[in-house]
Amino acid sequence: MQNTSFQSTVPTRIPTDGKGTGIGLLILHLGTLLAFIPATFTWSGVAVAIVLCNLTGGIGLSLGYHRMLTHQSLRVPRWLNHTIAVLGVLGMEGGPITWVATHRRHHANSDSAGDPHNGRRGLRWSHMEWLYRPNEARPTQDEMQRLTPDLMSDPFYRFLERTNLYWQIGLGLALLLLGGVSWVIWGMFVRVIFTIHVTGLVNSVAHNFGYQTYQTGDESRNNWWVALLTWGDGWHNNHHAFPSSARHGLRWFEFDTTWLTICTLKALGLADSVRIPTPEALTRRLEAER
Ligand SMILES: [Zn+2]
Ligand SMILES: [Zn+2]
Repeated sequence: MQNTSFQSTVPTRIPTDGKGTGIGLLILHLGTLLAFIPATFTWSGVAVAIVLCNLTGGIGLSLGYHRMLTHQSLRVPRWLNHTIAVLGVLGMEGGPITWVATHRRHHANSDSAGDPHNGRRGLRWSHMEWLYRPNEARPTQDEMQRLTPDLMSDPFYRFLERTNLYWQIGLGLALLLLGGVSWVIWGMFVRVIFTIHVTGLVNSVAHNFGYQTYQTGDESRNNWWVALLTWGDGWHNNHHAFPSSARHGLRWFEFDTTWLTICTLKALGLADSVRIPTPEALTRRLEAER
């Protein structure tokens, strides 16, 4: 009975052929082209795009969807957890349940047939094609249940999953009212396309180019310029070696913006149970590979 009620409340819009996502991506890319019309340019629009990009991509997706929700690398108070999740929804990469299930499937099957964005299928596939082309490796409804019991059991996350598109429309309308068309083009289209592509770089470039500190058995790489663009998530070989670590840049030169944000939250008393590998664990792992 419990399962039946879950079935009726979990999202039913899991894309299987990717057509809807493809149309959405096309609209977003076409909307971004409007930024090349000089009349749509305003510096305030650019500023809105930068601020929103860091809030929705840096805090919402990198810290929220990825490190906090998927890997449970840190704990924050419930109100902040939900606020960060809303920022993640506004990053326009789908609802939290689908995102987390897809990413957990990626870690469980990295660069093999069951990986939704298998890095061994080529750069174009792992960057974006996996989203809009038929893709058998996307989690099914049953797998979503199995992969995300923590989120499925929280009505707020089921609500976000069902309503994720409406949050975008609400933000777009708010920007239109506050700053006009320029704010919509820069704050929605340009920002979202930038975020989607830098996230894609983690799946494509950071699974093909860069160095491997750890032998993880997959193609994950540490890539400095992807890390700079993705708030630290480009230290991706470290991340595959220590998935539950809140810190992805593990060496002194591996700059990790999201880790700095997490440290700030911790210093403010807003985060605890922050998980990082001990120095012994790091050494043990390297020695095991010699
Ligand atoms: Zn990966
Ligand atoms: Zn991950």
